[in-house]
Amino acid sequence: MSNIARILVTGAGGFIGLHLVKRLRAEGHWVRGADLKYPEFAPTDANEFEILDLRHFEHCLLAARGEIDQVYNLAADMGGIGFITAKHAEIARNNILINAHMLEASRVQGVKRYLFSSSACVYAQSKQKSAHVTPLREEDAYPADPEPGYGWEKLYTEQLCHYYLQDYGFETRIVRFHNVYGPLGTYEGGREKAPAAISRKVALAPNHGTIEIWGDGKQTRSFMYVDDCVEGLIRLMASGCREPLNLGTDRLISINGLVDLICSIAGKQLTKKHDLSQPQGVRGRNSDNSRLREVLGWEPSIPLEQGLEVTYRWIEKELDAAGRIQKHAVSTA
Ligand code: NAD
Repeated sequence: MSNIARILVTGAGGFIGLHLVKRLRAEGHWVRGADLKYPEFAPTDANEFEILDLRHFEHCLLAARGEIDQVYNLAADMGGIGFITAKHAEIARNNILINAHMLEASRVQGVKRYLFSSSACVYAQSKQKSAHVTPLREEDAYPADPEPGYGWEKLYTEQLCHYYLQDYGFETRIVRFHNVYGPLGTYEGGREKAPAAISRKVALAPNHGTIEIWGDGKQTRSFMYVDDCVEGLIRLMASGCREPLNLGTDRLISINGLVDLICSIAGKQLTKKHDLSQPQGVRGRNSDNSRLREVLGWEPSIPLEQGLEVTYRWIEKELDAAGRIQKHAVSTA
């Protein structure tokens, strides 16, 4: 492949897609974005941006037309834990259609390399029952017992990528993201993830107020800043790795710990009110990065404190610009 590539990013109107397109353009590539919608919080940097519904095969053929070298397939119907717990049928159906059609359309159009964005939700639930979870190695997705709906769909699409490689020699790459966060992502409405949801709650709360936390807050996760995510994606696409690969940090933190970090960034003291009736997902989830280090010679390194600072300030600014923060609640940092 020449250094300058023609690249399709699906889901380019979404959080990771917006950041990935920006980076690919900065490297000089020609980029087409495709999505149901334009990015919400910043204009796209793509050379072309097409509004397409990638559940339809004809739209996928259009998206992948014109000698595209690489496809980053990031389009998915997804959201935070509340959303993916409540909408199994809708999410699984939409994503099966997007992924089956994008794979076939890319192959038919002669795309050289295809990356599928999978998720840590593919990992067996039985291995995530403790908050002090053993970090998950790629092999831990089997025997299969993934998250209902979203996780099953991702795991099956991983297999589909493998079949395309076996039967057609179609070059597929598979990334398993562990919780990505950063600015310019959804922070309310039900599709937001924990770091964005907590940042919004903290920004809106008056100092010494109370915020609601889903579950008892002792559930644990690891979090990766979006710049690390984009770096890992580009490295994986360039690599020879055809097996699924974790992309995340291996720093485990509880949701209560995450809240404390965001409160300290905001300069606020808040009381946590735990709502045990809300879904909290698996009890603990962490990434084992052994294969990542071995394959890419690299792993995410942006400290949580640093990434959260940027993310929190961006969400606070958004809310402030919308006139939703009481003046005394805005920190001066
Ligand atoms: P996002 O929701 O911000 O972006 C996904 C984009 O896909 C959205 O803009 C949406 O409009 C688009 N889309 C949905 N249905 C579509 C359709 N029918 N046709 C065209 N576009 C459609 O999500 P994100 O955080 O940027 O995630 C990108 C990818 O990474 C997804 O595949 C997601 O499952 C995966 N992932 C993300 C995380 C994370 O922490 N953000 C974790 C694991 C996996």
